[in-house]
Amino acid sequence: MAPPKVYKNFINGEWVVSASGRTFENLNPANRNELIGLFQKSSSQDVDQAIAAAQQAYISWKNTPPPKRGEILYRAARLLAERKEGFAELMTREMGKVLEETRGDVQEAIDMTFYMAGEGRRLFGQTTTSELPNKFCMTVRSPIGVCALITPWNFPMAIPSWKIMPALICGNTLVIKPATDTPLSTYNLVQVLEEAGVPRGVVNLVTGAGGEVGNQLMTHGDVRVVSFTGSTEVGRKVSEACAARFKHCCLEMGGKNVIMVLEDANLDLAVDGAVWGGFGTTGQRCTASSRVVVHKHVYREFVDRFVARARALKVGNGLDPTVQMGPLINEAQRKTVEAYVEVGKNEGAKLLCGGERLRDGEYDRGWFYAPTIFGDCDPKMRIAQEEIFGPVVSVIPCDGLDQAIEIGNGVVYGLSSSLYTRNINNAFKAMREMETGIFYVNAPTIGAETHLPFGGTKQTGNGHREAATAALDFYSEWKSVYVDYSDKLQRAQIDT
Ligand code: NAD
Repeated sequence: MAPPKVYKNFINGEWVVSASGRTFENLNPANRNELIGLFQKSSSQDVDQAIAAAQQAYISWKNTPPPKRGEILYRAARLLAERKEGFAELMTREMGKVLEETRGDVQEAIDMTFYMAGEGRRLFGQTTTSELPNKFCMTVRSPIGVCALITPWNFPMAIPSWKIMPALICGNTLVIKPATDTPLSTYNLVQVLEEAGVPRGVVNLVTGAGGEVGNQLMTHGDVRVVSFTGSTEVGRKVSEACAARFKHCCLEMGGKNVIMVLEDANLDLAVDGAVWGGFGTTGQRCTASSRVVVHKHVYREFVDRFVARARALKVGNGLDPTVQMGPLINEAQRKTVEAYVEVGKNEGAKLLCGGERLRDGEYDRGWFYAPTIFGDCDPKMRIAQEEIFGPVVSVIPCDGLDQAIEIGNGVVYGLSSSLYTRNINNAFKAMREMETGIFYVNAPTIGAETHLPFGGTKQTGNGHREAATAALDFYSEWKSVYVDYSDKLQRAQIDT
């Protein structure tokens, strides 16, 4: 048998092994006998080198005209498009989600890269008036410095691209640390950027554990910006570390998203949405529709149809085009799901389908779990409050829009929500009242597009947004420029 491929860190334009001399395994969650490769178990020494490289490259990159930076991103986007199918297959092998979805993940990276490449010729500021004569005022965006990017495993190419591309187009340099479960897709993205001509030191990749690599990244004195996507628990630590050092910090964290189904909804559409929103990516999306609040008049019918559809989902290896739902990412995640299913049963929720590991044949080789629905949930139950991050949906009855909104908003998270209705008044009322960063009408809670801001309120985020031009606001600072051509001292607020 051929030895496993060893993947290296990318530091200062070179592919290098870690100073630790150690590696970790990247396994296929649909078949744990399949070793995808060995990745560097990096140490703080590697992180220091990567940050030093990014720091050194910064001045030259920040002074590279943004349209030139954009040309490199355009090349990267075209390379990603050419390699989409291969990258999607590798992503399914390391992450488990079905091929159709990994194609979508790569496509999101392509979209984001093209979008941010175009920003190279915009990065608009404002020109404005002055309260004094013969004086001109404008705002320009300035890059900030070295960015540390820490990413999760569920969107292993899309999420890194949401961070890397705006950081680069704004003129920053960076070090990225992907999740240990899915380093290959980020590796592939970085390799594409190298081929597209990103100068040495501008993009650095260091793989390894969150505690060691992530911690060193967010505490290092030369890192000015930290962008983190992951759990609220780790996000709190990142926030505290950044606050103590006055670093710019963007946090994208957990969710407990809700689909609300009113009695006038198109039920076929609502069931389609609940299946896709609840079980797409095996429920491992920050925007997963893990709660469905349904009007009592259509509750029974909705639940019957939803359960029938969940039972019929084909679960298996995501490389099989007939499979609709892949495995969980790892055994720890499956144990979390199992623990929550026990919690749900003990809380008195009604287990309507699933609620067990899938066994036998190929299922024994991977982290498979059956699509699971709890009915008659109380909104205060833990399964209706806490993020499970697996194929478990809690269905909650309600008696109308106001109660649906109250239940929908009654969690600590605020990422995404949706309403199924044919009544425009209800749609607009919910749009106004839902305390989430993203809201859908007649669609599930997943499906963000790269040219709209992405992020959440409350314990999902800290007020920043990713994607769209909102990302530029995070990766640049405004500089206000006053040009006085009066040839005399003019004092604002005094010489009026
Ligand atoms: P996680 O918090 O365990 O890990 C995220 C990243 O942080 C990984 O790279 C990890 O290695 C690193 N990390 C772990 N401990 C660290 C530490 N002490 N210091 C610094 N870095 C550390 O999250 P996960 O399990 O990879 O991802 C699942 C979570 O991500 C879910 O809660 C999900 O909702 C969230 N998520 C949020 C969004 C969003 O945009 N809101 C998107 C995707 C995922």
